[in-house]
Amino acid sequence: MSFTRRLLMAGSALLLGIASATAQAFPNKPITMIVPFAAGGPTDIIARIVGEHMSRTLGQTIVIENVAGAGGTTGITRAAKATPDGYTIAMGHMGTHGAAAGLYPNLAYNPQTDFEPIGLAAGTPIVIVARKDFPANNLQEFIKHVQANQKTLNAAHAGVGSVSHITCVLLHSMLKVDVNEIPYRGTGPAINDLVAGKVDYVCDQIVSVSEQVKGGTIKAYGIATPARSPSLPDVPTTTEGGLPEFQVSAWNAVFAPKGTPPDVLAKLRDALVKAVTDPGTRKKLEDLGGVVPDARGASPEALAELVRSENTRWVALLKERVKQ
Ligand code: ASP
Repeated sequence: MSFTRRLLMAGSALLLGIASATAQAFPNKPITMIVPFAAGGPTDIIARIVGEHMSRTLGQTIVIENVAGAGGTTGITRAAKATPDGYTIAMGHMGTHGAAAGLYPNLAYNPQTDFEPIGLAAGTPIVIVARKDFPANNLQEFIKHVQANQKTLNAAHAGVGSVSHITCVLLHSMLKVDVNEIPYRGTGPAINDLVAGKVDYVCDQIVSVSEQVKGGTIKAYGIATPARSPSLPDVPTTTEGGLPEFQVSAWNAVFAPKGTPPDVLAKLRDALVKAVTDPGTRKKLEDLGGVVPDARGASPEALAELVRSENTRWVALLKERVKQ
């Protein structure tokens, strides 16, 4: 055998060795979890709680990177285009992987085909919250006040296509009102401004508002689920409040870019299931009002189906509800 040929064989054996060692060793450096909104909102809160437990299973830090903008689609676009090696994953939600396709004609990713589903992290019921001095004592009074003062009120949201945007779009279309909408880079900063009385109300995911509602810094008029939340037992459902058609519960879930190797995905999926089935992690999420899946609910198959159905549902719903 010629010297060159021997050298080539040794070289490719070395490369093969490196490739399998890399896969075996995953993860051998910190993992970035992109949160497509500002810190302090539900997506960020859930990512930090779930990511902390996943990092213990994986033996590597999960660094949360807040990449906000365009209702979460900026961060999710970055995740879709990242090298599919498991070191960049993202916390998406009902907006980024459901509704966004109905509001951004040139969306740079396909929520159904550009990702490998890791699994559902938490269901997040929607709560209508207002500044603490909003002049209404219950949902019916809130509705009347919004209908009578629609030109002067400001509803805050996390950007076009975000959960807080699309759910208030739905609410406004049911109330037949046209309220000024103020976009933020996430509902973390939107709720800060609600507490400060700078905006009037928000349709937010429960996990970032339950503490403030309990503390009395903001008011809650209704939770849009069939039953009250154990986290906010004093907040009536929208059905109790006389608006039964406003039913909506959002969700947050972990995704990897399409093409992430199967053995890497298996490790990420195992870490997610361990996180959501861990009693301490479940309690942290449930105390905030999160609805935490079991192992089957956190499976990649369940998430793929959820994205398919939510993407179809929201695109159709927004076509019907958004002024064209
Ligand atoms: N809950 C937000 C939304 O409205 C975003 C966030 O997590 O800050 O989509």
